[in-house]
Amino acid sequence: MSRKLLVASANRGKIREIKTYLENLNGIRLEIIGLDEFPALPEVEEDGDSFQANALKKARARAEQTGLLTLADDSGLSVEYLGGEPGIYSARYAGEDATDEENNQKLMEKLKDLPEEKRKAAFICVMALVDPHSGEEIVVEGRCDGLIQLFPAGENGFGYDPIFYLPDFGKTMAELPLETKNQISHRAAALQKLKSEVIKRFGQINDEDD
Ligand code: IMP
Repeated sequence: MSRKLLVASANRGKIREIKTYLENLNGIRLEIIGLDEFPALPEVEEDGDSFQANALKKARARAEQTGLLTLADDSGLSVEYLGGEPGIYSARYAGEDATDEENNQKLMEKLKDLPEEKRKAAFICVMALVDPHSGEEIVVEGRCDGLIQLFPAGENGFGYDPIFYLPDFGKTMAELPLETKNQISHRAAALQKLKSEVIKRFGQINDEDD
């Protein structure tokens, strides 16, 4: 018997990436489904004051509405010199309907006079898994460290990728192939941690279901 796990997202790319980590864990069979299977559910407002608060709010709401084990995430960019900005406002840093280019432009402008060592940044991803039956909650955080580059480079990825420079690669995230990004990203780091937690805590539950 397998157990359904709802990913509280309609983003097919995200769901596919999560599947590669969480389906077919040794002995734990999870059937990963997306929010597109529940088209009638209302929006959940992301009004928390941290990545963790937003991820937990989404996971709790969808778990309660569907009765399913539910995973939600929240992510963004955190710049050390700016005290963690843009943080939870990453998608709308330059305004409500800002494009990726406008957000990048605003950030480069704020950091333009700073030397490289003061332009430290990290992509952060928090994932929350909520079991509506037991009330159990797992929260993990993954990060990917880099520097903000003052000119965009590369065509891959999205968001802040063209100005996120990875010293180990000598390239921005947008200059790396997607397969490489998927190995080193904040989402990959969070999923890796989540995978160990799921094996530790949910292994027993599924064994009992068999
Ligand atoms: P979300 O929580 O995955 O929707 O991400 C919120 C925002 O954070 C995005 O709109 C981007 O601006 C930024 N962001 C999150 N992940 C990435 C990434 O992998 N690359 C570039 N920007 C990202």
